[in-house]
Amino acid sequence: MKLTDFPSDIRDLVIPAPAGEMLYRCLDCGNEHGINELLYVCPDCGSVMMLHETSNLAAKKADGPTWRKVLDHRRMLNIPALKGIYRYHEFLGPVVPLESVIYLGEGHTPVVEANSRLQELTGARFFFKNDGQNPSASFKDRGMASALSYINSLIQKGTMKEILAVCASTGDTSAAAALYASYLTEGIKSAVLLPQGKVTPQQLSQPLGNGAKVFEIPGVFDDCMKVVENLSSRYDVALLNSKNAWRILGQESYSFEIAQDFDYDMANMVVVVPIGNAGNITAVMNGFLKFLDAGIIETLPKIIGVQSHHANPVYRYYLEPDTAKREFKPVTVKPSVAQAAMIGNPVSMPRVINVVETYNRLSGQKNVFFMEVTEQAIMDSELIANRNGHIACTQGGETLAGLMEAVKQGLISSDETAVIDSTAHALKFSGFQETYFTGTFPPEFGITPNPELINAPEELKAEGLTEFPASGAPLTGEAFERFVRLSADAIAARLNLSRQT
Ligand SMILES: *Cc1c(COP(=O)(O)O)cnc(C)c1O
Ligand SMILES: [Zn+2]
Repeated sequence: MKLTDFPSDIRDLVIPAPAGEMLYRCLDCGNEHGINELLYVCPDCGSVMMLHETSNLAAKKADGPTWRKVLDHRRMLNIPALKGIYRYHEFLGPVVPLESVIYLGEGHTPVVEANSRLQELTGARFFFKNDGQNPSASFKDRGMASALSYINSLIQKGTMKEILAVCASTGDTSAAAALYASYLTEGIKSAVLLPQGKVTPQQLSQPLGNGAKVFEIPGVFDDCMKVVENLSSRYDVALLNSKNAWRILGQESYSFEIAQDFDYDMANMVVVVPIGNAGNITAVMNGFLKFLDAGIIETLPKIIGVQSHHANPVYRYYLEPDTAKREFKPVTVKPSVAQAAMIGNPVSMPRVINVVETYNRLSGQKNVFFMEVTEQAIMDSELIANRNGHIACTQGGETLAGLMEAVKQGLISSDETAVIDSTAHALKFSGFQETYFTGTFPPEFGITPNPELINAPEELKAEGLTEFPASGAPLTGEAFERFVRLSADAIAARLNLSRQT
């Protein structure tokens, strides 16, 4: 739709110009720092930071009902910069000019309702929000679009040049970083560090295909993270891990979209996310808090964070009901099929602690919950979901298992609706499905395949056939017709099909 066709009362608000004041705020000492420099941790105390818009821009521009109208009309615009996460420009990076925004098709991922069979099995009404349908096939694209658009604005202003973008990754961060960096060919190169043998071949192929320098490091993700942190503290590089507050900011779009897709009515809604480095759950809570503050939504949805029993530091922390007695202890992770969330010492833990407290307080009750699920439940749930028309990854299986656990604990009532996060595409993690189907999980996973969920290709060579087509050597004439007919009959026999009358 053309701007001139928009209602006159909102026409001036539909296309945003750069505005507002943004600062990094330290979650520990509370000091604030300007954004002209890329900072990852507080220069004063070393803690993680969050970005804040300090001029109250959104509230000054419009009230809640007006914002709803503006955002819904932005859906109809055909301006690339406003087609992705920057539909919510004022709530993400209002200082970023639209000319700097990199849009590669991220965000606005489908919300797909589970069929009645799956809802019955789960005991709750729910939708998958398929973040695997982002360009690099995971939600990390949201944060990368935000971080790289901001870096692009610094390059365009001339404050930064010759940037090396680096990250440590369980696979998906590096895929997203390499993709977005490769789009920005002027002045930016990317390098990624991966734990050797701990990412899937599909995930490895992504940064390689996008031309990033890929380093495989012995150890697990937490070890790679330490190397990258050291690198960024001593060399001039742009760190693209979720320590980078611009990443968290972009990922808030997930919540804005849920609000918009449910007509801003968040009463009786539950949002379920897997937790690894805990950046995503931080972003999801923060997004809803911002929309509440702007009057766009009136209720905060219930949040459920899910961890595997093989990588559960956040779950353990919140097991202690007494806030004063809670103490964070990193855990040593064990192998997990939810490999993208296999993290023992989450970088964003201070953010989680901070935002959970605010979220519960503004909800007027405890409204954030944490579930622990087994590796078996994760795998079984993923396979069951995909047998019912979904494209869930193993982390999507983890959220479904978490939803079922929450139902079992009586945390979800029959009038509630859940939106559960499938954070990546099933294809990225198809190796685990293969391992399940072939019954070859190493014992440390503790997974025994359920025969009812196993599937395998069957060879079909019809009895009585002696000649078969091969590539470069097709069958012809009577031999080909015989091959086609007898093969069809053999399939019909195996499937017990009845003949047409
Ligand atoms: C990164 C990632 C996670 C974990 O998200 P955090 O922000 O680290 O908690 C979960 N699933 C997938 C597919 C991921 O790539
Ligand atoms: Zn500080």
